[in-house]
Formats: sequence, structure tokens, C-alpha cells
Amino acid sequence: MIQNLKESLTTEEIDILGYDRVIKVSDALSGLVGIICLHDLSLGPALGGIRIHPYPSFEAALNDVMRLAKGMTYKSALAETGYGGGKAVIIADPKKNKTEEKLKQFAEVINQLKGTYIAAEDVGCSIEDVDIMSRVTPYVVGLTHHKSSGDPGPFTAWGVFRAIQSVLKHLYGDEKVQGRTIAIQGVGNVGQPLMEQLFWQGAKLIISDINREKVEALARRYGAQVCLPEEIMKVPCDVFAPCAMGGILNTDTIPQLRCRAIAGSANNQLLRDSDADELMQLGILYAPDFIANAGGLINVAQELDSLGYSSSTARDKIHSLYDQLLLIYSIAAENNISTHAAAVSLGDYRLKYKIGKRTIAPCFHHANRFLM
Ligand code: NAD
Repeated sequence: MIQNLKESLTTEEIDILGYDRVIKVSDALSGLVGIICLHDLSLGPALGGIRIHPYPSFEAALNDVMRLAKGMTYKSALAETGYGGGKAVIIADPKKNKTEEKLKQFAEVINQLKGTYIAAEDVGCSIEDVDIMSRVTPYVVGLTHHKSSGDPGPFTAWGVFRAIQSVLKHLYGDEKVQGRTIAIQGVGNVGQPLMEQLFWQGAKLIISDINREKVEALARRYGAQVCLPEEIMKVPCDVFAPCAMGGILNTDTIPQLRCRAIAGSANNQLLRDSDADELMQLGILYAPDFIANAGGLINVAQELDSLGYSSSTARDKIHSLYDQLLLIYSIAAENNISTHAAAVSLGDYRLKYKIGKRTIAPCFHHANRFLM
């Protein structure tokens, strides 16, 4: 039980095998119900976003946060951030009932965890929401504050760009995107900067988004071909870049794919782990999503460096995701396993031997007032 909380705020520990700590958070006054899930702290404090979503039930929220927190463990281990895996969810509709009071109460609990969980934005939780939380707790990253790293989208996009280069290198022996056809599903915070980077490097672009106005304006600007959302996975291309939602690679969609490789930002692209085997059998090279999209995590983690945030240091670290991915492809090929299985086993190895464990404390430069 967490001590010293305001009366209306309660926490309940939920014992789950294989998870360091899972805490249900409720606040009678604000109507807050949420979960903080710390999966694995063997490499450092858990770092992960807060998802705000109107889950149909507490169980649905619990399942989602557990899956996401575990994913963060592997993402951090493979991105060599020196952080552990954690995630939080708040059960609320971000458009209708996300209130300042709920965010502040949730931040109270994060504060009581004394830095074992470091929170950031995620789907439904904006960087402005994290700003609100930063008035209550220092243990947040990715703020609008001048010492913070801000919007992770362009950094995630840079990691996806490097992932695209890695699949091209593995397939064609040449990482150049010039002249290659890249199909992007979703041109939002990540997809749009990704298409810009690809455009300037001479790639041929096919884009789709459920927001017609946006996709058409971007297509005009970047000479891209527009494709209907239901068609984007069927277009012939070198690389398909899923940058919208998860679960899109499954037994229904995989047989329709006409790409040579997949590298995108969406979380949990595979509906089931076994879908990675089907991709392998079809000869489609898959850049595991939790490495391809680790740029945003690397960027927020960088702001906790003792020297303070440096965007160029973050960029350079993200640059090397390319090498990490080439290593994964070679492990997969040598062992005749999927690239997803290779990435998970490399993550397990790093966790087992605590490779990349944090040895110095993170610095919360935006929050000096808390530390006086
Ligand atoms: P976003 O909401 O800004 O953009 C998503 C875009 O996809 C929107 O433009 C939306 O209209 C479009 N979209 C939704 N459904 C679609 C469909 N069926 N077909 C085509 N387009 C569709 O989100 P984002 O921040 O760009 O993130 C994209 C994905 O990457 C998400 O899965 C997110 O979890 C993941 N991700 C993002 C970051 C980051 O730094 N933002 C980091 C890691 C992972």
C-alpha cells in the first residue's frame, strides 16, 4: 500500500506473476481509475507512457497495460536506454472526461513511487497533460519545458527511417531509399515527418490516412500517390510502413501483402507472435516494431542524462537502431527463426545478464524546484 495520499485517493497492489509491481489507482472525488504497471526494473527505473482510453472494463485496461509494459521492457533493453519497462493507463475518454484533477491525482501516485516509474505521453495523453502532471511530480519526461525533449514524433520517425534503411540494406545490399517505393499507413505525428524525410531522399511514396483532407494536402506537397485506407496493405512496394494502429499484421491481412519488407512505428503490429512466422515463410522481412519505433523512447530517455537534453545526442543514438536491426536479422537468419523471435531472445539475453544496466541516477532537469 502506498502511504501519504490524499484521503479520496486509494491504491491497491495487484500480484501478477512475472511483473514487478501492478497498482490500481482510484480517486473517489475526480472519478479517476487507472493502473500503473511496472514490468521489469532489472536494467533501471521503468520508463513508459500513460495511455488514456475508454476501456470497456477494468480487465481490458489491465490486459492492455500489462502487454504494453512488457513491450517497454524489451524496447528499452534493445534500445540500450538503461531503463526498465513500465506503462500506465487511465480509464477515460480523452475527448470527454480527461480532467486536470484526474491527471494531478494520478501524478500524486507517480510521485509516491519515487522515480521507480517515470511517465511520458502516449495515445490520449498529450505533452500538455504531462505538463499538468509535472506540477505535482518531477518523475515525468517529454514536456513543453525548455529543458525537456518535447514531441517525440520526429525522433520516432527518424528511427523508422533508419529501420527502413536497414531492411533495404538486408534485402538489396544498399540502404539508399532513393527510387524505392514506400507505402505509409497513417500520416500523423510519426507518419508525416517520416514521409518528409523519405521525400527529401528521393523515395517514391504511397500514403493513406482516414483523414482525407490531410492525406490529399500532404500528397500534393510531397508528390505522393494516395491510396484508400483499405488498399494500402495490398499495394506493391519495397517497404510497407505501418504508422497508425496495432494488430494490423494477422492471418487475414498477411496473405494480401505485396511488400518486400515491413518497418513502421505502430505499436504491436503483429496480432499474435506466430504472425511473425507467417511473414518469414512468405519471405517478407519484418523490422520488429519495438525496435523500429524506439526513437521516441531514446529521445525522452536522453533528457534524463546528467548533462541535460541534447537533441543531437538523441539523434545519434537513434541512428544506431540500424545496427541493432541488422544484428537481429542476422540472428534470425542463422537460427532460422523470425526476426520478432530473434529480437525477443536478444532482449531476454540482455535482461538475464543485466547488459546495459543503469549505474547513475536519472536527472530531472525540468524539476529542480522539487529537489531543493
Ligand atoms: P497519430 O494519432 O498522430 O497518427 C496516426 C495517424 O493514423 C492519424 O493521422 C490517423 O488519422 C491515421 N489513421 C488511423 N487509422 C487509420 C487507418 N485505418 N488507415 C490509415 N490511417 C489511419 O499517432 P502517432 O503519434 O503518429 O503514432 C502512430 C503509431 O506509432 C501509433 O501506433 C503509436 O502508438 C506508435 N508510436 C508513436 C510514437 C510517437 O513518438 N508518437 C512512438 C512509438 C510508437
